[in-house]
Amino acid sequence: MRHQALVRVAVDRPLDQLFDYACPVGPLPEPGQRVRVTFGRSEQTAVVMETGQPPAVDRARIRPLERILDPGPILSGPILELLRFASRYYHHPIGETVLNALPPALRKGAPLPSPAAAEPQWRLRPAQAHPRLGPRQRAIVQGLETSGTALALHALADLTGLALRRAELKRLADLRVVEAVAHEPAAPPSASPPVALTPDQRQAVTAIEAELGTPAALLLDGVTGSGKTEVYLEAAATAIARGLQVLVLVPEIALTPQLVRRVSQRFPGQVAALHSGLPAGERLRVWDAARRGARALLLGTRSALFTPLPALGLLIVDEEHDPAYKQQDGLRYHARDLAIMRGHIESVPVVLGSATPTLESLAKARDGHYRHLPLGTRPDGSLPPPVRCVDTRVHRTDEGLTTPLLDAMRTTLAGGRQCFVLLNRRGFARVLACEHCGWVADCPHCDARLTVHAAAHRSICHLCGFTQPLAEHCPECGQLLSRQGLGTQRLERALSRHFAGVPLVRLDRDSIRRRGELERCLEAIRQMDAGIVVGTQMLAKGHDFPRVGLVGVIDVDQGLFSVDLRAAEQTLQLVQQAAGRAGRSGDPGIVLVQTGHPEHPLMQALQRGDYASMVAPLLAERRAAGMPPFGFLALVRVDGPSAESSARQAEEIARQLRRHARGVRVLGPAPAPRHRVNRRYREQILLASPTRKALHQTLAVARDGWQQHPPPRNLRVSIDVDPATLA
Ligand code: ADP
Ligand code: ZN
Ligand code: ZN
Repeated sequence: MRHQALVRVAVDRPLDQLFDYACPVGPLPEPGQRVRVTFGRSEQTAVVMETGQPPAVDRARIRPLERILDPGPILSGPILELLRFASRYYHHPIGETVLNALPPALRKGAPLPSPAAAEPQWRLRPAQAHPRLGPRQRAIVQGLETSGTALALHALADLTGLALRRAELKRLADLRVVEAVAHEPAAPPSASPPVALTPDQRQAVTAIEAELGTPAALLLDGVTGSGKTEVYLEAAATAIARGLQVLVLVPEIALTPQLVRRVSQRFPGQVAALHSGLPAGERLRVWDAARRGARALLLGTRSALFTPLPALGLLIVDEEHDPAYKQQDGLRYHARDLAIMRGHIESVPVVLGSATPTLESLAKARDGHYRHLPLGTRPDGSLPPPVRCVDTRVHRTDEGLTTPLLDAMRTTLAGGRQCFVLLNRRGFARVLACEHCGWVADCPHCDARLTVHAAAHRSICHLCGFTQPLAEHCPECGQLLSRQGLGTQRLERALSRHFAGVPLVRLDRDSIRRRGELERCLEAIRQMDAGIVVGTQMLAKGHDFPRVGLVGVIDVDQGLFSVDLRAAEQTLQLVQQAAGRAGRSGDPGIVLVQTGHPEHPLMQALQRGDYASMVAPLLAERRAAGMPPFGFLALVRVDGPSAESSARQAEEIARQLRRHARGVRVLGPAPAPRHRVNRRYREQILLASPTRKALHQTLAVARDGWQQHPPPRNLRVSIDVDPATLA
């Protein structure tokens, strides 16, 4: 008897397994193709992973496929390989990993958009006397003129930086200024480079171009404004001219409209930008155009990494230090690390760019794993501003502000320049500190600060679990202790009192919640002369503001002395990035950092301004402690509806981990810094290992254990490999 052919598929369930189904007569679906299957009692979208394999279970129990969804594979071989790797490396179920790589609409089973029914492209009609046009209409015409090609609505929006509606284009069509064309035009050659590269830039571009076709990793290391983006664009132009596709990852596309514009202007009609704000249908079309090879350059955030690109030739990770590259739930992947893996799989060079590279990337550049491409000075010769400390033990703060900072702000404003006031809220953990003598509560057993748990009235160490009652008075000087914590809104209020009548813009998650508000904020900042901008780390992102004369950093100690693994590193990066906002036009301006520890080596290094020497002591510390990049970490998190059950389960898992620990240190369990979230109680166990291999073996064996004897249903156990934070 002839057997029906089988396919092995991934389904969107938290299971480590793939499942066999029997195919209907007709052509066999291939790996990467979507199908519909009956799973349990419901119908599911699944992705074919293997074909032609012998059955894993009794043939009689194998059900038939319901339907084949795609005419061919929509996930390529290299992407499937990348996803298999990710599933193994992050110890995450294969089905969820694979399905998550698809745009949401495809995950739900929607059909691929048909390329024939692509949205219209707009182009200018042959020159004739234009009717009188409004400013937006003129911007549209200008955008189409510079691009020299027909553009889809979203591409035109990226190019002009305007949130365009189809009705506006229809209106221009009625006026016979533009017309719609149905077909995707052949891509025009990229526009010529707008600047002559500096020798450093030229060298970097040449080095990247020389690696096209190989899986090299390169670290492009240069201060903000040193011309990294120009290097990306130039290397991308070469790749595109050779018929290759380029993938550019950015930390947060919504925060960098200027970059989207710059790339769109350089490669008009060839850019697919995956904004998070795109409507689902639009997003799918952009994704699919890149997948079909109809766009030469794909620009997107971390999840764009999983987009199949048939002619991928170059991968760029901009601002590689940005924590946004690490996904914090589900598949907890790091897009930079997986980008390196994708480069290996597809034999494509990967360029990591940053003014403040992570310790991981610096270490890899030093030991020769990554090629180091330093960019020296800024092309315009401007210097980054000097960094000075304001000692908060000498100058008392009032609502976070010291007199020297306020004075410097007055001078800057009087000189017609802008002041940026940055409140570092990175890390929520509150530290018990004495504003008078600078004392901070430490754990007696760990090189870590204790964090305040106000509700429980205790200080807790999140590494080892040590706990003690909250102190009220400083053990050194007897003054009343303070818990740090000041929000941007309160700061905004205080500043508006000090500077009545001065334009003030606040930039944080809350102030840009609604669509278009970020653009309005950025525009307001660009429009104003003397004025104040107050905000979170968002201020330090890649915006280019020419009139910043002063950057004030309100509270750097909270980050510098936080319990968290990367807090000090990230605080240095933040201050450096913020400093990069000042001094773009001639006068370098100044950065004032308020701290209770101006004599601390990190603060001293900050004032010297050289990032490499700043992070040297951090690297030495990490090496001594066996922490990344010299050791390897994983966090096992347990959460459940009661503190007791979570703690009990965590104890049990820690016991299993210890039983299988081959040279791996198992620390904890300890309550997570945010112990209670959504009425669930969270415990965590930290694994530290001198080798990756031992870490993965320990995790794999222990995980098998708790999969065979699963914890009660109301408890969740998750694994975070290479955690970004221990919080
Ligand atoms: P980064 O990405 O390192 O912050 P950019 O590439 O954005 O730097 O460059 C900073 C500024 O300098 C931009 O305005 C850019 O147009 C300009 N620039 C870059 N390279 C050159 C060059 N070779 N000559 C003149 N200006 C340049
Ligand atoms: Zn004190
Ligand atoms: Zn401790």
